[in-house]
Amino acid sequence: MSKIQILSKQITELIAAGEVVERPASVVKEIMENSIDAGATDITLEIKNGGITYIRITDNGTGIQKDDIANAFKSHATSKISSADDLNAIVTLGFRGEALASVAAVSKVELLTRAAGEELGTRYCIEGGEQILFDDAGCPKGTTLIIRDLFYNTPARMKFLKKDVSEANAVAGVVDRIALSHPEIAVRFIRDGKQTLLTPGDGKLSSAIYAVFGKEFTDSLIPAEYTLENIKVSGFVSKPLAARPNRSMQFFFLNKRLIKTATGTTALNEADKHSSMAGKFPSCVLNIDISPDQVDINVHPAKTEARFVNEKQLFNVIYYCVKNAVHGGDSRPNINVAKAAVAQYLNIADEARQIRLPDKKEDFWEHRLADGTKIHKPQINITADDAIDEIVKDLKEAENYSAAACQPPNIVSEPGMAGENGYITASETKPAAKPVMPENITQNYPVFPQEEDTAPPEISVTVIGEVFRTYIIAESGEQIYIIDKHAAHERIIFDQLMAGKTDESAQIMLVPVTVTLSKEEYSAVLENTDLLIKAGFEVEDFGAGMVIVRECPMMLDMGSVEEVLMELAGYLLSNRHELISGKLEWLFHSIACRAAIKAGDFTSGYERERFVENLLSLPDIRYCPHGRPVMIEMKRKELEKSFGRI
Ligand code: ADP
Ligand code: MG
Repeated sequence: MSKIQILSKQITELIAAGEVVERPASVVKEIMENSIDAGATDITLEIKNGGITYIRITDNGTGIQKDDIANAFKSHATSKISSADDLNAIVTLGFRGEALASVAAVSKVELLTRAAGEELGTRYCIEGGEQILFDDAGCPKGTTLIIRDLFYNTPARMKFLKKDVSEANAVAGVVDRIALSHPEIAVRFIRDGKQTLLTPGDGKLSSAIYAVFGKEFTDSLIPAEYTLENIKVSGFVSKPLAARPNRSMQFFFLNKRLIKTATGTTALNEADKHSSMAGKFPSCVLNIDISPDQVDINVHPAKTEARFVNEKQLFNVIYYCVKNAVHGGDSRPNINVAKAAVAQYLNIADEARQIRLPDKKEDFWEHRLADGTKIHKPQINITADDAIDEIVKDLKEAENYSAAACQPPNIVSEPGMAGENGYITASETKPAAKPVMPENITQNYPVFPQEEDTAPPEISVTVIGEVFRTYIIAESGEQIYIIDKHAAHERIIFDQLMAGKTDESAQIMLVPVTVTLSKEEYSAVLENTDLLIKAGFEVEDFGAGMVIVRECPMMLDMGSVEEVLMELAGYLLSNRHELISGKLEWLFHSIACRAAIKAGDFTSGYERERFVENLLSLPDIRYCPHGRPVMIEMKRKELEKSFGRI
């Protein structure tokens, strides 16, 4: 008997359906795209149980003519193209004629539709690809499609579905993107009986962004537009200061179709390179408007990949679009200082800010109220309004600091000499003398919390100083230590976290922070709240893609909570299937890295001493969590050998 068989129509349909219909979100994408292609100006989507049991889409588009209905549900049946040539210039979102057939193959579908000019509409039911009902029905012009019990006949696919809430969030992610790509359409999304999105459909992209992501995100954007020959790119990019720790808020649309474009992402990042801080990524909502014959969208059944005839040109237009927007649109303080200084303003001002120290020891690492309640250390926030005065001051301080840094070693800056506003400035230097401790600083200054019953280590160490604001140099007996202060501090914090001390160090935030996430990240975070608690974050659902952080690790700055959470969200999303322990370790890395003092941060002589003492009392701290050494030790003999003394 021959071994090769032609598969039955039913099986081929199921196989084909697998390519297009992966989960409720992919059904929603296809069906909403059909409504858009039908010219709808109003689309309502309702789902129940993550869309697994119920998806309803109602539009006010053209409707489907009675005699087209049965065909619409056949494979490769479409009204959008008719010849091979049409494939060279696709102007609709759909063109493969696969979606309705695929959906009908794996669910129970009910269609209500009436085309313009028809007096009566039609009710049509199809289950697992088999027609069940075809009847007249009274209904408004347009189309309603109800999809029940997705994958009821394909248990293999059903198994891969996630919890309802995750599927619902994936659907919400699709709806967000559809709403962003078509601001002229009023999109309404009802999730388990609750309306969670309504865009005005006024044609303004900013209105759609506002409806989807809220005020804060919208306020962080600058309009962007650029045309180069036959490509126009328009939309919004984020202001440099609003850059995020990952790329989850970068949305590219190609002729109003959501696409993934590596060229777009690279161009965006290149254009933003020197604007946002290292390790941060701009957000964007950009539509690429291009003649359909310059692009091939028929690359993958999901139609989210595209090939451009001229990728280089695409790169250029996005690059210039973003560059112009970022340099022209972001409101910078209007300052009147030397040109070079202005160019360096952001860097220098930042550095200068870091060299101002709080006058109380507690402020540096943590902050406690009199009754022992821990609160965040206060933030030094400089608004654009304060900036002009600050810049001049900061530049001066930075200049003085560099000058001080070049002085012979007997000129050092010291803590305890409070300048204006209680901060010490590095410019306030004076010849070295016996360190003067502020009254309220005791000798037991807990740079890192220690067990109370542990006797302080008997280490006699002299801190010589610090080079490149990164490496602390110390001597003890016959040894020289060169310590990478960031790496060492990071390791100490990481070990504390790993040792489960997060409970003690988690703190209730006086002002909880809300964080806007993409719907997929939002879902990943909500799925991992238990894990986040272990890492010191208490995070709750705040609705519509937002989470609220009520508790965070003690050692984190209030100002970095939002950023860390976004970073964690991105990680949780891309590592959903990893073992929990691996995830937790990554979370601790991320927190430790953020909470540790940075290379380049100013550290006073007093803090250096406490830090080194503490570090040397912890002999296990040898490598940072990334495996780099925290300290290089050199024996006196080695040094003497190098100088030919012995
Ligand atoms: P495609 O979108 O690739 O053409 P589909 O299987 O998604 O394939 O849809 C098949 C056909 O059904 C479409 O070409 C269109 O003519 C019709 N159709 C589907 N949904 C709608 C709708 N909401 N309104 C009007 N016509 C629709
Ligand atoms: Mg379609």
